[in-house]
Formats: sequence, structure tokens, C-alpha cells
Amino acid sequence: MKPLPFFLLVASMVLATPGSASDTHSAPVAVNQNVAILTFLNEIAADNGVYMVTHKIEFFAGLAKGQTPRATVVTCSDSRVQANMFDRSPEGELFTVRNIGNQLVTAEGSVEYGVHHLHTPILLFIGHSRCGAIAAVSENYSKESPAIRRELDTLTIPKELNNLDGVKANVNYQVSVAMLKFSDEIESGQLTVIGAVMDFADDLHQGAGKLHLINVNGETDATKLKNVSALLTSKKTKSTPVPVPKKNTPHEKTPPAEPVHH
Ligand SMILES: [Zn+2]
Repeated sequence: MKPLPFFLLVASMVLATPGSASDTHSAPVAVNQNVAILTFLNEIAADNGVYMVTHKIEFFAGLAKGQTPRATVVTCSDSRVQANMFDRSPEGELFTVRNIGNQLVTAEGSVEYGVHHLHTPILLFIGHSRCGAIAAVSENYSKESPAIRRELDTLTIPKELNNLDGVKANVNYQVSVAMLKFSDEIESGQLTVIGAVMDFADDLHQGAGKLHLINVNGETDATKLKNVSALLTSKKTKSTPVPVPKKNTPHEKTPPAEPVHH
């Protein structure tokens, strides 16, 4: 085990106060939790230290100036999906929104901020293999808490689909919702909406960890997706697709929000 930095030694003393080790009823669990917490804090501090010394001061100075991300990215919150799978240096490049099921409607304001205020030319939705949110809506999730049910209610996946096809259907649906919401930006050529699937389980048999492009501005034909350049050239004349009808999806156009200052 790595030695604990000073502040974590202090943290360990705080975490070991009454309610944990001194509580005979919950002591074993609390001690184990404290070990896990301290291990986690110690390891992220160590990794952060490496990060600090392996990036130049100019890099951080660039981040401090502000952000001009290349894409707004909506991914599932699933811990197995991370930006470093497809971008070795996502800092400042990806305005990332995460939620269960990589949905637009449950993070609409955040997505709007990326498109309307940061003016990212790309809005990318990323689903993934073995998605628990997609699996949940294929089954009965009525015993989940109201907050979780609310975020699952906005996913409509045909029950007959397997998980991977459900993931694809959801990504395509999210693209269609975004195309309706941001139709002006798409028609003017300012925005391209893209759908992709991170297949870390190799369910598509093209290599574990491959990011599959499955939708560009509503086009899902695999042959056409091999020539994205042609799709982008023709996008301005392409009619806006009709989104899949869906319950409880208030994605009507709303007036631009006031700029948010972080
Ligand atoms: Zn997921």
C-alpha cells in the first residue's frame, strides 16, 4: 500500500471518530468503508500528482483562459464508458453531459448550453454495450425510487429488442429528438448530430472497445455512414426526419436561456 499523504492521515483520523470504529454495532463495515475511502482518496491524489507533473504549465494556462470545446457529448453515466476511450486529451475539447441512458431530455439544459452558448459544431450521443438503463426499461422497474423511475420513463425501448439493439434504438431516438430541438442549427449547417455506440464488450464482433458510428444527422445506413464526408455535403438539403413518437418528452423548442456563468 502506498504511504498516505499528510492530509489523508488527517482524514483517516476524522473518519475513525465515533460512528465508525468506536461503534461496536457497525464497526466492521465502517472500518472497511474507511479503508476503501482512504484508499480511493490516496490513489486519486497520487494519480492527480502524476497528472500535474506530466502536463506543462502552458496546458493549464490554456484551460484557464476558457473553453471552446469541439463537441457536446452525451454519454451514459456507466463507469465503463469514459472519454479517454476515444479522446486521449478531452480537457477543453468535450463538453460532456452524463446521465443514465445517455438522454437529451433528462439533461436538456446542459445540452442546450453546449450547443447554444458554447456553439459546439457537433452533438454526439454515445450509448454502450451492456447498458443497465436499457436493460431496466426492458423489464419491470416499478420498484425503483421515483427519481430513478423518472429518468427511466423517458426511455422507450421496444421490449422485444435485445440489449444491444435497444442501445442502438435509444441512440437513434436521442439523435432524432435532438434533430427536432436543434433543427435550425442543423439546417444552417452549424450543427451535426451524431450517434455512436461504445462496444467494450465486443458484442458487435469488431473488437472490444471500438466506438461505432451509427447515426449522422438521422442517417443510419451503414454503407452511407462509411462516407461521412458525402453525408455532410448533402445534409443541408436533407429533410428533417420525423422523430419517433414518445410519451413524456417535453422537447419542444424553448426560448434561448440567459448565458450561464460558471
Ligand atoms: Zn448505460
